[in-house]
Amino acid sequence: MKSYRKELWFETKNRREFINITPQVEECLRESQIKEGLVLCNAMHITASVFINDDESGLHHDFEVFLEKLAPEKPHSQYKHNVFEDNADAHLKRTIMGREVVVAVTDGKLDLGPWEQIFYGEFDGKRPKRVLVKIIGE
Ligand code: ZN
Repeated sequence: MKSYRKELWFETKNRREFINITPQVEECLRESQIKEGLVLCNAMHITASVFINDDESGLHHDFEVFLEKLAPEKPHSQYKHNVFEDNADAHLKRTIMGREVVVAVTDGKLDLGPWEQIFYGEFDGKRPKRVLVKIIGE
C-alpha cells in the first residue's frame, strides 16, 4: 500500500472565509500516483473546517448568515472561552461545519458527486493555518 502526506497552508485576509481547495487536493492525488484508495483531508486547527458542498456564492453567504445565527461572533463577552481570546464563535462554527472529509479515489480521480467541491472553512483567520492531506491506497 502506498501512502502520501502533505500540508497545505492558508492565510486568509478576513476572519471568516471559504476557499475551494479541490484543485490542490487533486494536485496532491496526482503527486501521490495512487489510483485506488482514500483521501483524508482535515483542518489542523480547532477554529477551521474542511467540508464538502456547492461552490456557489449565494450558498456561501447563506452559510455565513446561518453560522452567525447559531454562534454570533459578537459580543465577544457572551462566551466564557473569551477570557484571553475572542474566538469562541470560531470554535463553535468549526464544530458545526466539521473537521474533515474523506473522499474515495477511483481510477486516479476524486470520486465526488456532481456538484461536490472540497472547501477550507476559516473562522478565525488572518494567520497561517494548515490542512492535512493524507492519501492511502495503491
Ligand atoms: Zn480559542
